[in-house]
Amino acid sequence: MTRPTQAIIYLSALRANVQRIRELAPKQKIIAVIKADAYGHGAVRVATALTGLVEMFAVCSLEEALILRQAGIDAPILLLEGFFSADELTTIATQKIEIAVHTQGQVDSLLAAKLPIKVWLKVDTGMHRLGFLPDEVELAWKRLNQCDVLLKPISLMSHFSSADERDSKINMEQIRIFDELRKKIQVESSLANSAGVLAWSAAHYQWVRPGIMLYGVSPFSNTVAKDEGLQSVMQFQSALISVKQYRKGEPIGYGATWRCPQAMPVGVVAAGYADGYPRHAPSGTPILVNGRRVPLIGRVSMDMLAVDLRSQPNAKIGDTVVLWGRNLPVEEIAILSGTIAYELLCHISPRVPRIER
Ligand code: PLP
Repeated sequence: MTRPTQAIIYLSALRANVQRIRELAPKQKIIAVIKADAYGHGAVRVATALTGLVEMFAVCSLEEALILRQAGIDAPILLLEGFFSADELTTIATQKIEIAVHTQGQVDSLLAAKLPIKVWLKVDTGMHRLGFLPDEVELAWKRLNQCDVLLKPISLMSHFSSADERDSKINMEQIRIFDELRKKIQVESSLANSAGVLAWSAAHYQWVRPGIMLYGVSPFSNTVAKDEGLQSVMQFQSALISVKQYRKGEPIGYGATWRCPQAMPVGVVAAGYADGYPRHAPSGTPILVNGRRVPLIGRVSMDMLAVDLRSQPNAKIGDTVVLWGRNLPVEEIAILSGTIAYELLCHISPRVPRIER
């Protein structure tokens, strides 16, 4: 039996999610965030599917951007996090890659290089991770504008720390700080990530930067994709590779942490933490066998996990198992495992084939 573990990528769902973003931000341009191999979905695949549907792509590093260029993606690409060194600026210019800049040292490198590069000044409006503090921005902006060769205008971007918290005052404060700055520097700007697109229309400005919602995942902890009008793009699936009957009291898996409360059928699924299923998913985490929920039991192993088949006594080897997907929200598995859906999607391992549908 070939190992049945796969991540099915539904490109129609991906495109539908872009339509949803357009509904929410009809006047804005979309920067589709496809860093980390498009959150595990395959950056080239996603960029190819979205070419013509979004205005720009954003990635983390130059390496990620060059993979897209080598695959023939010629849409604008933004390096979101400012990872570049001075000796990479020539490549950045020739490959027409836009860059987020967040230090005076980077401004110095750009002024020295004198290359036609499009720059986004990253502003720290409260996230306190990267970016010029509001009172440093004008100087950096003026210095960059003195260079005739740099592409104009120099745009502004910032990032929310708490956009997924609908009631957080921090968001209003970040918007206020960004608005103040934009009174002085009136250029195209970007602030909204997915939660910003969904919940903070005052932060839409000219460019929105959705990531997780493209993949049909809610950024909020109390909703799932469907509640937000999104369609789940990835279905992580496998199959039963063993079905056996055990006696009452028999232990299941490493550490014998779970024991059969009665004589019962137990299924083994060909998916484990080396595939990206979270090792910390507790017993009881739902898994779909033939489309119906059954509980995970015992510890997740590297290549396998076990399920309680008492509610499905007819389940057999080869039956389809869904770890998450449109009928089993990845958001739910993430919460039960003490993490976020972002991490689960990014952790689907390279050994899991991605199958496009
Ligand atoms: N913008 C920046 C600067 C980011 O770092 C990210 C993701 O981490 C995004 C936008 C997209 O965020 P989300 O996936 O929450 O939409």
